[in-house]
Amino acid sequence: MKIERACKKCSYVTEDDKCPMCGGETSKEWQGYVVILDHTKSEIARRMGIHVNGKFALRVR
Ligand SMILES: [Zn+2]
Repeated sequence: MKIERACKKCSYVTEDDKCPMCGGETSKEWQGYVVILDHTKSEIARRMGIHVNGKFALRVR
């Protein structure tokens, strides 16, 4: 089974140990997520400072 991890820096959700977006460390300890389908139109993406589409954790420990 694949374990999803979230980046401690940009909250991007990935299965890798290192974030493919920013190269930051990822953590297994995270809660909740948002899926950004179109970051140019998403209010949440704007507020979270997200500039790419993808899955982002709401809280990363
Ligand atoms: Zn990252």
